[in-house]
Order: sequence, then C-alpha cells, then structure tokens
Amino acid sequence: MRDVWNTAELEVLDKAHLWHPFTPMRDWCELDHHPLVLVRGEGAMLEDSEGRRYLDGNSSIWTNIHGHAHPAINQAIRDQLDRVAHVSFLGTTNSPAIQLATKLTGFFSKNYLSRVFLSDDGSTAIEAAMKMAVQFWQNQGHPKKSRFVAFDRAYHGDTLGAASLGGIGAFHKRVAGHEFPVTRISAPAELDSLPGFHHGDVAAVVIEPLLQGAAGMRLWPTGMLRELRQKCDAAGVFLILDEVMTGFGRTGKMFACQHEEVVPDFLCLAKGLTGGYLPLAATLTTERVFSAFLGDVAEGKTFYYGHSYSGNPLGCAAALANLEIFEREETLQNLAPKIQILAHLLDGLRDIPFVHEIRHLGFVAGIEVRRPDGTEFPWADRIGANICLAARRHGLLTRPVLDTIVFMPPLCTTAEQLKTGTHAIRQAIGEVLGSA
Ligand SMILES: *Cc1c(COP(=O)(O)O)cnc(C)c1O
Repeated sequence: MRDVWNTAELEVLDKAHLWHPFTPMRDWCELDHHPLVLVRGEGAMLEDSEGRRYLDGNSSIWTNIHGHAHPAINQAIRDQLDRVAHVSFLGTTNSPAIQLATKLTGFFSKNYLSRVFLSDDGSTAIEAAMKMAVQFWQNQGHPKKSRFVAFDRAYHGDTLGAASLGGIGAFHKRVAGHEFPVTRISAPAELDSLPGFHHGDVAAVVIEPLLQGAAGMRLWPTGMLRELRQKCDAAGVFLILDEVMTGFGRTGKMFACQHEEVVPDFLCLAKGLTGGYLPLAATLTTERVFSAFLGDVAEGKTFYYGHSYSGNPLGCAAALANLEIFEREETLQNLAPKIQILAHLLDGLRDIPFVHEIRHLGFVAGIEVRRPDGTEFPWADRIGANICLAARRHGLLTRPVLDTIVFMPPLCTTAEQLKTGTHAIRQAIGEVLGSA
C-alpha cells in the first residue's frame, strides 16, 4: 500500500515552523514556492509526495554512497535497533563501534592511522582534529604551537572551530573576530616563506585533498598533496585531511589521499561514512598523537571532548554495512568503467556555449556556466539555482554552488541514469539561458 501525503498541509506547516540550513527563508516562505517533500528513496532515485521520481544528483548533499534503502544497510540498522539504539560511549563501549574502528584503521598500511575518535558530523570531526592537534603540542610542551594554515575557498563545516578554517566569504565572514588563529594560503609554495611555519607556532595545515567541494568542485593540481605532505614533514607541522566529502569512493578510490599515496596525521570522515544513512563521523590519527595524551590523570593530558551520541551503535552498524558492501559488491571495481562513461557524457556538454568549465574527478562533477564571452552572471540572478530547478522537471535533483551545477550521484547510479542526469542538465541550461 502506498502512503498518502497531504502535500499542501505539510508545506504550510513547514513554512510556519521550520528554519532550513543555508536557506534565504523569506524566499522559501513565499506563496509561490513549493518545496519538494521527499518521501521515499530506492537506489539512486528519490520520490516526492506527489509521486514524482528524481535521480539523486548530489547524493542527498554528498552523503549517499550505495543508494537509498539498500537492503544490507537497512537490515544492519534494524538488527542493531532490535538490540539497542544508543548507549553511552563515556565509560562504556559497544561492539559496532569497536568493529568499525578496527575496520577503518585497516585501510592504511601498517595500521599507521591506528586510533579512531568518533563524533557526529563533518564539522565535529574537524573540531576534534583541531583540538587534538593543539592539545598534542601543549602536552608536548609547545603551548604556542596553536595556529592553523588553511586554504582559500576552503570549507570544513559550520561549528566555530571548523568555520574558522573556512575561506568562503559569504559563509564565514559572520564569525569574523571569533575565529581560531588561521593563516590562509592559496598554494603550498607560500609555506616556504610563511613566518612560524618551520618549527614555529603553526600546529597544522588543513586541506580538502584533491578537490574542494563547497568551492564548486575545484581540483588541486596533481602532486600538490604530496608536496604539502613533504613540506609539513620538513617543518614539524601536522597535516589534517578533510575527506568528509571525498571519502568512501567518491573520487574513484576509497579515499582521495590514496591517489597520491599520502597518509595524513589526522583523517576526518563523515558524510558517506554510514553510506549516507545516519549522522556519524570519525577522526583517525596516529599512535604518536594518541600516546601524547597518556599519563597520570593529574597531569591533565586527557582529551576532554565528546558528544552525547559519540559512538552511536546504530550509526556504527550502518557504517560497517556500508564498508562491507564495498567488498561484497566490488563497488570500486564496478565504478571505474562508469567514471569513463561519466567523463564521456560530460564531454558531450562542452558544446553548450554557456558551459564555461567542467571539473571532474571520479564520480564528482562541477559544471560551471557563464556568459558565452566568459564573464560571470551576476550572483543575485541565481542562474545556477534556476538551472537546478529546471532540471527537476527532467528528473534530476541537485543543488548548485553559485553557477556551478553539481553532479555527483550515488556510486550505484547506472550508465543509463548518468545519461538521464546529464541530459537533464543540458535541457535545463537551454530552458534557463536559451541558446546563445
Ligand atoms: C560537508 C563538509 C563538512 C561539514 O560536514 P557536516 O557533516 O555538514 O558538519 C566538512 N568538510 C567538507 C569537505 C564537507 O564537504
């Protein structure tokens, strides 16, 4: 039996009582704005309360990996639910969390990232890494080593520490004056002349490896990550990798840093960790970092940080099922040919005069539209947003970054669905901008 939804009533109540993230709420609440109410998902497809179906073109804000309602993840969550939904991780432990940590540490050779700190979101994974880095240096007798280096246009989340690292003006200027000390750079070469970098007051460099997501799917030059690792090593500075978006196969490998055989001092994971089912995050670090927090309680070396839902068994069970699917369904092996198909389909969009640049890595693509003469549209015209709205009528659900159309469907998306998605983008650009 199908559920019956009263879309009109849901819309009224939403507009009366909710406040949506990153959303200009006056426009949202306008009478002629009809938000989609999503009610079901299956594989790469989502369905709204009116029975319309869409390809989940941004993996439900970059989270979904193997598709919606995957039987194995659903079953793992149900099985855990029948045992217990949540127990405290402060003073007690649980089996799904133990198994998950064991599994995650196995991804890097010789168990180099041997310790897993669990939290709730990408932002908190970053917060934990920042606080661990600063306290590591305090515990080692270097209390002044507390500054971070982050990149232009970086996005690392919205809690205050994570937001301090952010380099996107519109998102981050509101916290100005309340940030952690951060120096912003645009390329690793700037580190050579950066005061305090070499064995000075810089605690860590933080980067989204290979690809900046919220900046509009911007690719770093090949070899840049390895260069950064070398510079950090030479300077005695930690490297924190934010793989909240790039992790879990999105770039074609399990983790983006594996493209350049780089292992960080801290690896931050969230979004796809549970396959996109439940909020859970992990900060992985080394035994060297971990052991600096050991000592008599009175020495005050303990890491006093955590959240009520740390180590949540439901989330850990979902994450374990997510990782098992990679093995059982040979997800990454099957992805490789589909990445080629996606590259080919994206190439097919290049003849559109408004397509300025297509940025593509693995199963992540950003299609930037501009005027045919290469100048940008005024941001207030919201061209990217209008194209994404138009794409819905062609069965594609996604969200832009300014005028970059994001296309990064779940890894289970079929070749046929990829074709539907890129076709919808072509149609939508035509409808919004006409032909040049
Ligand atoms: C989404 C994202 C975050 C923040 O994660 P939340 O779960 O939204 O807190 C951090 N870093 C990157 C690279 C992200 O894409």
